[in-house]
Amino acid sequence: MSQRPTQRFPLLAGLETLPGVGPKTAKNFTQMAVEKPRDLLFTLPHSVVDRRQKTSVLEVVPGDIGTIAVTVARHQRPSRRGLPYRVYVEDAQTTFQLVFFRGSDEWYEKQLPLGAQRVVSGKVEIFDGVAQIAHPDHILTPEEAGDLEGFEPVYPLTSGITQKVVAKAVQGAMSRLPDLEEWIDPGQRAKESWPTMAEALKAAHAPVSAGEIAPEAPARQRLAYDELFSHQITLALARAAQRKSKGIISGGDGALRSKVLSELSFRPTGAQMRSIDEIAADMGNPVRMNRLLQGDVGSGKTLVALMALLVAVEAGGQGVMMAPTGILAQQHLAGLRPLAESAGVVLEILTGRDKGRERAAKLEALKRGDIQILVGTHAVFQKDVEFHNLRLSVIDEQHRFGVAQRMELGAKGVAVDVLVMTATPIPRSLSLAQYGDMDISVLDEKPPGRTPVKTALVSAGRMEEVVAHLRTAVAEGRQAYWVCPLVEESETVDMTAASERFKHLRAALGEGVVGLVHGQMPPKDKDAAMARFVAGETSVLVATTVIEVGVDVANASIMVIEQAEKFGLAQLHQLRGRVGRGAAASTCLLMFSPDLTENGRRRLEILRETEDGFRISEEDLRMRGAGDVIGTAQSGLPRFRVADLERQTALMAVAQSDARKLLHDDPALTSARGKAARQLLWLMEQDKAIRLISVG
Ligand code: ADP
Ligand code: MG
Repeated sequence: MSQRPTQRFPLLAGLETLPGVGPKTAKNFTQMAVEKPRDLLFTLPHSVVDRRQKTSVLEVVPGDIGTIAVTVARHQRPSRRGLPYRVYVEDAQTTFQLVFFRGSDEWYEKQLPLGAQRVVSGKVEIFDGVAQIAHPDHILTPEEAGDLEGFEPVYPLTSGITQKVVAKAVQGAMSRLPDLEEWIDPGQRAKESWPTMAEALKAAHAPVSAGEIAPEAPARQRLAYDELFSHQITLALARAAQRKSKGIISGGDGALRSKVLSELSFRPTGAQMRSIDEIAADMGNPVRMNRLLQGDVGSGKTLVALMALLVAVEAGGQGVMMAPTGILAQQHLAGLRPLAESAGVVLEILTGRDKGRERAAKLEALKRGDIQILVGTHAVFQKDVEFHNLRLSVIDEQHRFGVAQRMELGAKGVAVDVLVMTATPIPRSLSLAQYGDMDISVLDEKPPGRTPVKTALVSAGRMEEVVAHLRTAVAEGRQAYWVCPLVEESETVDMTAASERFKHLRAALGEGVVGLVHGQMPPKDKDAAMARFVAGETSVLVATTVIEVGVDVANASIMVIEQAEKFGLAQLHQLRGRVGRGAAASTCLLMFSPDLTENGRRRLEILRETEDGFRISEEDLRMRGAGDVIGTAQSGLPRFRVADLERQTALMAVAQSDARKLLHDDPALTSARGKAARQLLWLMEQDKAIRLISVG
């Protein structure tokens, strides 16, 4: 398996090896992520043109493509510049016009000699009551017309690439398809009446109706499944490889956990208890834990993390929790240290800010085992950070880290159990794609006593009203966040927008009332600004999205978001989750620009309708597509060419369970079906999977 099967070489060769593709075309193809003949197999037409002949133009609905046999009746040269050249043609029932705005008289006369029979095909339009085709796509002799396909696939294009070029290149790629054995479970294939992959590819590239383009078409379903299945085999292999590496058994007696729980002013929710049990069970068994804790903002993930960390301590070891920002790490320190201390557990923080002697002292204490729980930023995973007996790594707000990073962290500690937490509720199909290698616990229940957040849409034109409102609220002792939008991913512009708003609000509300925090500030200033807000010294905190993740200030009950339409729904939901944490009624004002589109408005209205993060994410997925919802580039979610995660959601779950079952029955993929699955992995370029098999 360490060698590429030679029969697949031609599909993985350079594009220039295909008919009609030179270096320039090959380069243009890369703009549509087509780099190898194989990529063309999975570049499917998005629509189909019906070129079947009609007897008369009268049978064609205006706006549609018409293909009609005609006799050339008359040429009409333009009487002045700017007018088109017209050729009158007769079909079986009527006369209509072919219209040309460019070309030469000689060309027209050669292509369409008087009295000649031709088959013309193009978009039929009615102009001044007369049917016409401007610049027909085809002008063919009756003999040539015999070769015209009744249905023509329409491919996605990029500049420098035409339909003809793609069609020809696809044909070339198809001719290189090797014989393939079936890798799909026979029962599954029979149940769905799916064709073989070769048949499916043929059908997908030669659609004969709009129905065959639809995601529900059997050929499309099959190919989507192939894609999802190969991805899930990769994840299942990663999972199997991880489970094979021996884990540490961390069985605690529960003493520290009981102590801490008795200190709390509240009782854990059922979902929290269930998740804690699932995690403790994983930690107590020799298989290495690789678990995701998914829970909406405010669902209380931190407590679950603390309990898990205490299991590690009860077992005589250490635990570490990494947060994506220094602000969050500080907050974990502030929230968790008193609880840890009440149980006699030493909890410390380590971030990039720790330098010199102090840092060295912390590292020493860590190495000796004197620090039992460490919280921090990715500074906790630097090379020189050594633990005495690390048993658990918790990664908070994992959506800020990519899959690759996550796998790297897993590889770090010897056999350390890993718990990752995410506050981004994502639809099941996506979570399977992104976290299919993990086991999942879900906090699907919010702590009681939360008052719902009242959400309103406000036009930016009413800014001064909002400011006046804020003044009243501040006088009543309430606190507010004011979030400025991300401007084209540029931190600098972000900062300017936030600084400007800061000055404006300071002038309107008074010196000392307003604070500012943004990504470009020195960490010390950021902490200080946050600390003043937490302590209630400032009432309004102007911020960029640095506050998005995890920040917890119970007294803050107003959230203003400027240019809300620029944010993703999930992100807005996260931001809104910053308020509504205390008992006070909370408000979220979504300010929108005057040029808000209808679609944009509908998106924002979803937030007004619900606080259910899962529902919001489903809507977001439906409206924006998978890549935008979780940010494909950083999520590590593969770019599926065929599979449509919005509309083929059910397939992903089947692919996952089938992939896990296949590997359970045939871990080395040596059975007939297993070997076929290897072919699939090659074809789908699942290099990671291939490496995992080679190692295993
Ligand atoms: P997130 O899941 O967003 O990380 P946190 O862990 O920050 O949520 O919890 C949000 C707030 O809810 C915190 O102030 C926390 O103390 C509180 N909390 C957590 N669990 C409960 C519970 N079972 N009952 C009441 N409050 C809780
Ligand atoms: Mg949190």
